[in-house]
Amino acid sequence: MGTNFINLIYLVAAVCFIFGLKGLTSPRTAPRGNLLGASGMLLAVLATLLDQHILTFQLIILGLVVGAAIGAYLAITVQMTAMPQMVAAFNGFGGGASALVAATALIAPGDLTNVPPIQLYVASTASGIIGAATFTGSMIAWAKLQGVLRWQPTSDVLQKASNTSLFLAALALAAYIVNNPAAIWAYWVLVAVASVLGVMLTVPIGGADMPVVIALLNSYSGLAAAATGFVLGNNVLIIAGSLVGASGLILTNIMCKAMNRSLSHVLFGTLGPTAETASADEVYEGKVKSASAEEAAMIFETARLVIIVPGYGMAVAQAQHTVRDLANLLQERGAEVQYAIHPVAGRMPGHMNVLLAEADVPYDQLFALEQINDSFPEADIALVIGANDVVNPSAREDTSSPIYGMPILDVDKAQTVMIIKRSLSPGFAGIPNPLFAAPNALMLYGDGKEMVRELIAALREQ
Ligand code: NDP
Repeated sequence: MGTNFINLIYLVAAVCFIFGLKGLTSPRTAPRGNLLGASGMLLAVLATLLDQHILTFQLIILGLVVGAAIGAYLAITVQMTAMPQMVAAFNGFGGGASALVAATALIAPGDLTNVPPIQLYVASTASGIIGAATFTGSMIAWAKLQGVLRWQPTSDVLQKASNTSLFLAALALAAYIVNNPAAIWAYWVLVAVASVLGVMLTVPIGGADMPVVIALLNSYSGLAAAATGFVLGNNVLIIAGSLVGASGLILTNIMCKAMNRSLSHVLFGTLGPTAETASADEVYEGKVKSASAEEAAMIFETARLVIIVPGYGMAVAQAQHTVRDLANLLQERGAEVQYAIHPVAGRMPGHMNVLLAEADVPYDQLFALEQINDSFPEADIALVIGANDVVNPSAREDTSSPIYGMPILDVDKAQTVMIIKRSLSPGFAGIPNPLFAAPNALMLYGDGKEMVRELIAALREQ
């Protein structure tokens, strides 16, 4: 098949990727965007299969069957709360695959690629460094989020110095390989050095900061794929890799902004209470009021506008379906229900949107922070379910707070705030939340799902 024709198909595939990404920017157009992106990938795969004759189709089909079986098993069994580590593992495999393809191209260039030698050598070493570091970094991220690895050295000066040495060593090896491409052993040493670098870069980062790092590793896996595109002279891989690289970087930036933290603070710092942070006793002592589901139901009776604010605890409790049932019940009784979604509520970007979409909550009821914050003063009830940091007014008012400056949902401005959580324990940032002691706040202590169930039962009994 002619190269021009193949490149034309790749161009169509790339256009599908770009419009697919555009579709993913809104929940309403996301399924179409997903389908468009997947169709682009199918086109690209088919064109590549028709163009290349290196592998036998038996081997390709075997790979497809094994990959599809593992993918289907994971998709069916993985818990929503375990999604970040699954994404981490997938990024890692992408990086690892790029490094291996680059190795194959170096070992048997004639069979795999016909790009100019200098392009092959430079791109292969780039793919090896980024791909191997992405693989081991992602595996460490997976192990931390899965709770398999708890070790966390502090990122001191020594560590930063050794990371710089490792990076320079990898670059020196890359230069050696470009000048001595027959020295395949040097490529494997480069992969080993980059693998250690990936571990060293990821291991000091706090497990809970890992979602930001995963977005960054996702970006790296795209860069590794783009480098592999240069190795193979494959335009669609260059474009798709660059899109992944750029979107991963944008996502990393969005997450850092939503937490009001710089990337260097995420990578080299920690988030937590400081000496100036008020203790829980100082914030809560004698000021916190709690209510039962029956008492809360009485307040709901007259509510016209209810804003539901989901957080990490809703994901832990898997309460999304029960929350939707409560919203339906309130709507049947004439109340308007809206959901306020903070960009970093939960533990990964879009965490709440995914959970609520899974429970068939209509998209037009979901509002982003900037869309809904002005509505809280008009809300009769803000119902916070398992959210903590993203509704902490210290971020707005207390300049000494570690989360000062983080944009938050202004739930404290609603007439009544009800907070469903099991205790007064802090959230991810580890700091007390003055919202729980506010005069208009009521704590509904209990597991997210159980308490919402009790609330539904109490409302039905009225
Ligand atoms: P938080 O982590 O601040 O708080 C979650 C709360 O949920 C806890 O206080 C906990 O209280 C409660 N909870 C836990 N389990 C249950 C349960 N079964 N039922 C009811 N409540 C429960 O969550 P937020 O969503 O408010 O904030 C997210 C945090 O994660 C932010 O600090 C953000 O910066 C950070 N983060 C988010 C990322 C993202 O991409 N989304 C990425 C990196 C960090 P209790 O134990 O008392 O029940």
